[in-house]
Amino acid sequence: MEINNVAVIGAGTMGNGIAHVLALSKFSVILIDVRRDAVEKGMGYIRHNMDRQVSKGFLTEDQKNEALARIAQSTSLEGGVRDADFVIEAATENVKVKKDVFHTLSDICKPGTILASNTSSISITDLAAATPKPDKIIGMHFFNPVPVMKLIEIVRGLATSNETFEAVRNLSYKLDKVPVEVQDFPGFVSNRILMPMINEAIFCLMEGVATAEAIDTVMKLGMNHPMGPLALADLIGLDVCLDIMNVLFYGTGDTKYRPCPLLKKMVAAGYLGRKTGKGFYTYEPKNS
Ligand code: NAD
Repeated sequence: MEINNVAVIGAGTMGNGIAHVLALSKFSVILIDVRRDAVEKGMGYIRHNMDRQVSKGFLTEDQKNEALARIAQSTSLEGGVRDADFVIEAATENVKVKKDVFHTLSDICKPGTILASNTSSISITDLAAATPKPDKIIGMHFFNPVPVMKLIEIVRGLATSNETFEAVRNLSYKLDKVPVEVQDFPGFVSNRILMPMINEAIFCLMEGVATAEAIDTVMKLGMNHPMGPLALADLIGLDVCLDIMNVLFYGTGDTKYRPCPLLKKMVAAGYLGRKTGKGFYTYEPKNS
């Protein structure tokens, strides 16, 4: 099926980034959020990020304006997705929210429309089970910031058809991304490897093996990681890290994914990293 019109559900961090790259790749996009202010804020980010691309010489002023003109906005799922050939859902990471969205989408979209989720951890097979056409449901996991990061994990649910998979792979190439096929297991590949590494760094800190600065320095200078695991946890958000560890722990039933008690304690205290100004490091308000 040819994809021309794309609906993006959720205008937050990921949704506005996804709308940005789709519009630059000449797709007609509609950016939908339940909150009017979120749509406006999302459009503001897209403008700001495209302006930066212009100032760096990656984009001309005309290309920017043409791309912006390709993005429509809506606060209504019903009104927004009727013409969509492809829908990418980037709403809040909550199973009920996503199941409701997928259930509604499968009622109102055209029969052939592919419904993708950008979820970081929720089972695609579970989401697909909430719809009458599980073969059309797939995971398309972008990385933050979307305009910069090349990877897309394409997640096959148990019932995802080859046709759906191929369409999403082709779309990824059109966005100038590198798609990698993964199966639907907790954490997919990215978070199954990344989060246990972060969790282990927190265990090192809790057990007094080294300070936060020392742990991050070991991983930066010894392993050539651009950022230490504790600084990265602060950037991702400690609540998000804990949620994903719980998905791995409960999804596999394997104690090797047990969330570190220090991580749980910090989340309980509201030390969530950059967004609250305090995590493994302390941040000035301008950085939060
Ligand atoms: P966010 O909180 O920034 O944005 C979510 C948006 O969804 C909000 O604006 C909210 O109003 C909107 N929303 C909630 N319910 C909705 C509904 N029923 N219909 C339409 N909009 C609705 O979240 P985010 O960080 O952009 O994450 C979105 C998704 O992307 C999540 O599934 C997350 O796991 C995934 N993800 C996030 C990252 C990241 O680094 N932030 C990376 C990869 C994947």
